[in-house]
Amino acid sequence: MKYPEIRNFIGGEWIDAGGLKTLPVNSPLDGTLLSAVPLSGNSELDMAVAAANKAFTSWSRTSVKERVQVFFRYKQLLEKKITELSSLISEENGKTNGEAYAEIEKSIELTEFACSLPPLITGELLEVSRGIECRTERVAIGVVASIVPFNFPAMVPHWTIPNALALGNCMVLKPSEKVPLSSCRLAELLKEAGLPPGVFNIVHGDAELAAAICDHPGIKAVSFVGSTRVAKFIYRRATHNFKRCLALGGAKNHLLVLPDANTGMTAQNIVASMSGCAGQRCMAASAMVAIGNIDHIIQRICEEARKIIPGKNLGAVINKAAKERIEKYITDAEKEGASILVDGRHAEVEGKPGGFYVGATVIDHVQPHMAVAREEIFGPVISIMRTETLEEAMAIENASPYGNAASVFTEHGGYAKYVIEKASAGMIGVNVGVPVPREPFSFGGWNESRFGAGDITGKSSIEFWTQLKKTTVKWNPESGVNWMS
Ligand code: NAD
Repeated sequence: MKYPEIRNFIGGEWIDAGGLKTLPVNSPLDGTLLSAVPLSGNSELDMAVAAANKAFTSWSRTSVKERVQVFFRYKQLLEKKITELSSLISEENGKTNGEAYAEIEKSIELTEFACSLPPLITGELLEVSRGIECRTERVAIGVVASIVPFNFPAMVPHWTIPNALALGNCMVLKPSEKVPLSSCRLAELLKEAGLPPGVFNIVHGDAELAAAICDHPGIKAVSFVGSTRVAKFIYRRATHNFKRCLALGGAKNHLLVLPDANTGMTAQNIVASMSGCAGQRCMAASAMVAIGNIDHIIQRICEEARKIIPGKNLGAVINKAAKERIEKYITDAEKEGASILVDGRHAEVEGKPGGFYVGATVIDHVQPHMAVAREEIFGPVISIMRTETLEEAMAIENASPYGNAASVFTEHGGYAKYVIEKASAGMIGVNVGVPVPREPFSFGGWNESRFGAGDITGKSSIEFWTQLKKTTVKWNPESGVNWMS
């Protein structure tokens, strides 16, 4: 085992798993056994909630200006450790080093946003009548939880950790049991940056622990990022227990391509979007709708896809089950009559027989009823459907139950405006393959890609992580009248 067995981080200390059942953590790159992750239960969760609750009393009473000082220092530590963190992410998740590096850069940007919170959360004050003031202030909620997926071991935790903590909450994080190592390094860096014990805790576990988080009476809010099936479960369970919940789910993102689109730029963008992080991104291009004759662009997409080489500029998928699932989608589409223009099945990387690789795959003449057109594949696969008109293409996009992202590729402002207005997705791109809004704009989809109100990052997250206190003050005893009594 390359690293020691993973422990929970509770009250600022590493706590031994103490006989808990564990799961092996293998690198998807080559199968190396990295570590073992404990499957914690109620008693570990109780300990973490108690530690967070204890820390909340003093942490929530510090001013936001003091709290963000920790994150200024933390950001510098992320910058200093970016290379080390990137290789750990790549090792446990399977993405390339460059993609892992970009993940830390994005985590730094998210931390910077948290540092900028003080001027964004100033309350309001108005003299509503002579000598009578109404004011509002944002107050932390208490102990909150964040449950995260495998595909971004550092960035997705940064969607919640810096903002929730800078706003005065204390947190229990449940990392994905598939990638538990990176979050442990983040905990060490937060400690080094001066975060008081108990403000941030990690409890490792699987589905059972996620359910226990939804049931725990000491947890006030649950943030979840993962598949739609689990997002629905978490949202139902947490809100059933009267918790605030925001649950982000899976996606099937559509790219609408018109004949006037710039050939080279469009092809590069589409291939980068579908194959980046081996297609394991909730913002990945997955379904493309070719409007009219765009054979020249499809040909270029195939050329670009053939430049994507597993083990070089394409990482591994998370495990054997993922590889098999992705390849089955391709095989089923082929059986149903779609054409596999570029075939990534049975990809192997020399010297890494234990790794799980799927090459970039382009499937043409996909019908909207096929599984590859409708379902989240979560692999480096683009399914191309053909329509005559933009209206037909939009009908396909609108029929998807998901709603994370949609992009249009065109040089025509009118077509772009039509897509911006009609697409049923929370994040829209015009000539952009991965339309992730950058801070301070917030991240969040629509429909079955998100359950709950508001977005997970940016200004929108302030609402989720705080409650509003409204105070009315009367300073005019000389008036001799009561106010609203
Ligand atoms: P997942 O839903 O399997 O797991 C997410 C988390 O839920 C993990 O911590 C896991 O331990 C826990 N979990 C798994 N099964 C559970 C169950 N039955 N009950 C309770 N908890 C359970 O997701 P994943 O495979 O880790 O990640 C990939 C998915 O996440 C994709 O669908 C992707 O689109 C989605 N995702 C969405 C966004 C977004 O912003 N919408 C971002 C990243 C990933």
